Amino acid sequence: MKKTYCLFLSLLIMLAVCISSAAAQSMTEAAAALKTPGAAAMFVNLPDPDPLPPTLFGTLPYPSIAPIKLFDNVYFVGTTAVGVFIIDTGDGLVMLDSGINDDDAANMTKEIKKLGLNPSKIKLILISHEHFDHYGGVQYLKKNVCPNVKVAMSLIGWNFLQTVPLEAGYINPRPQKLDIYLTDGMKIKVGKTTFQIVATPGHSAGCVSFIFPVTDGGKTHMAGVMGGTGVWSTQQETRLYKASVEYFKAFTAAAKCDVGLGVHSLESDFTAVRVRKPGEPHPLVIGTAKFDTLYLQKYRDLYQYVLDSGKMQPYPVVVAPPGSSPARQ
Ligand SMILES: [Zn+2]
Repeated sequence: MKKTYCLFLSLLIMLAVCISSAAAQSMTEAAAALKTPGAAAMFVNLPDPDPLPPTLFGTLPYPSIAPIKLFDNVYFVGTTAVGVFIIDTGDGLVMLDSGINDDDAANMTKEIKKLGLNPSKIKLILISHEHFDHYGGVQYLKKNVCPNVKVAMSLIGWNFLQTVPLEAGYINPRPQKLDIYLTDGMKIKVGKTTFQIVATPGHSAGCVSFIFPVTDGGKTHMAGVMGGTGVWSTQQETRLYKASVEYFKAFTAAAKCDVGLGVHSLESDFTAVRVRKPGEPHPLVIGTAKFDTLYLQKYRDLYQYVLDSGKMQPYPVVVAPPGSSPARQ
């Protein structure tokens, strides 16, 4: 498998430079930023094929889970495999991820209605990363549900999808147009909700994570959503994932995140929310300390398992073409 070593340098530059670009942006400003040159395409090493068996992740249908209201302003719909968060901003809905494919998006549209929400009010879709189970519903939603929706993902992820064949983790309809590219440190305000973007490459090159406020009974908490879950067994990706978890920790600690959510359905204990009785503490509000020692630790355990497995792929040796500078720098 071909590897290009601009990846490491590019990401280091991205992490070092973009950390300071934390100015809040409206959707209009963010959309205008698309015209700004400079975030050039970074073509990176192809991740290994998705290790999940196709029977689990290749085709529908998966069983739907009952749609659920998690907080005053946050909902979740989807299947046992993956789903989306719906955030009611007071001025339209924001969808975090978009489902697997057309059928999944159609089903989620019905589920959103069951929650008493109007899916045509979805103004913005934030895509966590460039794998089909996160972008696959976008085209259906734009065509059939919310035609004026803005679609946002990282430009690295977007560029990546322009280069990778329809295979493995990159099947199913892809976004055909990107309205906003998400950059590290960006803040996007929709209605009364500000979403902070944190670049967390590793699960994929263009993976981003999110921080935004949620309310429970009117009390505000801060939620962190790690954008990518799985860890690949290559040296670069595993170690990059490890670095990204600690990078995300820095921003979630600064934001005082006390709620940890995951884009895959089994990452959050929805059952505990369903059986919660009035007056009981919210089971997803774990506190700032446990956000680190419990929530982020789940992701540390993932990469540590790979590191400890003894099955890490060795660093490949790249032979530079005659006359060129060494590939490894
Ligand atoms: Zn993924």
